[in-house]
Amino acid sequence: MAAMNDPAVEKRRSLPMLGARALVPKRASAGPPPRSVRVSVTDRCDFACTYCRPSRNDGYADGRLMTPAWKTMFEALRRAGVRRVRLTGGEPLVHPEIVAIVAHLSSLGFEDLALTTNASQLARLARPLRDAGLHRVNVSIDTLDPVRFREVTRGGDLDAVLAGIDAAIEAGFSPIKLNTVVLRGVNDDELERILLWAWERRLLPRFLEVMPIAEGAKLVAEHLVTAAEMRRALAAHLLAEEAVTEPGLGPAKYVRARHDPGLRVGFITGTSDTFCETCDRLRVSSTGVLRPCLATDDGVDAAAPARAGDAETIVEHIGLAWSMKPDGTVWKGCTEETAAGVSMRAIGG
Ligand code: SAM
Repeated sequence: MAAMNDPAVEKRRSLPMLGARALVPKRASAGPPPRSVRVSVTDRCDFACTYCRPSRNDGYADGRLMTPAWKTMFEALRRAGVRRVRLTGGEPLVHPEIVAIVAHLSSLGFEDLALTTNASQLARLARPLRDAGLHRVNVSIDTLDPVRFREVTRGGDLDAVLAGIDAAIEAGFSPIKLNTVVLRGVNDDELERILLWAWERRLLPRFLEVMPIAEGAKLVAEHLVTAAEMRRALAAHLLAEEAVTEPGLGPAKYVRARHDPGLRVGFITGTSDTFCETCDRLRVSSTGVLRPCLATDDGVDAAAPARAGDAETIVEHIGLAWSMKPDGTVWKGCTEETAAGVSMRAIGG
């Protein structure tokens, strides 16, 4: 009964928590505040990759945040102690105000400001984004074959993406990391070609296992190629050494090239060996929900304070969302049952 009058308990009750939290094991203590945040700045995308979206006409989430609300959100993230921000989606470069958004983020002084893109719009935006203060760019590219590219992306134009990569190099982004989702029977015969093509341009290729999240859940049984298999396929080009992470920079594990140890390739084992134990990420969905994990719909809805310009309340919500982070010693991320039902592009891949 006493709790009913406790203002702290009453306040917690009124917080807009979402999802089926009871099913997800939680950490005993929340630990330090989130340092790294991924933001789905829009769930709109000009591609519909087979492992991400069911079709080009699958609709978008209602209630996405507009730029003024995003600005409040970013100010709150900064105040909450976040140091690294990655913009993703959806496709961040189809957001009409992406350059202004990057400029605002840059003015807030984040240590690391990065963006993941399909590069379809990068030829025109690489320079403005660099000038606006973007530090790093990762480009997703699953094949160097234009016909395959069109199939995997459901309509994407490989030439536009290659022009985007050239523009990013010219604008001075470095390193430029590539993401290639490897699918058996689709592009697994291209690993060596992509590796050598990337190294020739001093790009940093990374090969990803397809994860059973969103549409990927339908592909894993037939198309998963494990990182161990990929590494075996590329063994002739790689030093026989243990793959290592870049501390604080995500789950990819890197191995150096045999002919030039200044070159590396990364592997991301989202399915065969999940990495929740070291996950330090919070996510913000395109509708302003703070999410502690990509693989569940759990979260705290911060859209209302974002629209009201109330950064202080968002800071409180960030603390609550962070306390909902799954216990990575037992939680297995995108291989958990909940993952198949989430929207990758709304949460932000
Ligand atoms: N549109 C941007 C892009 O293409 O990079 C950003 C969003 S996309 C969802 C971010 C990354 O998630 C891409 O590299 C994509 O390949 C990866 N991705 C999406 N669904 C995946 C899945 N089921 N398994 C593994 N990676 C996935």
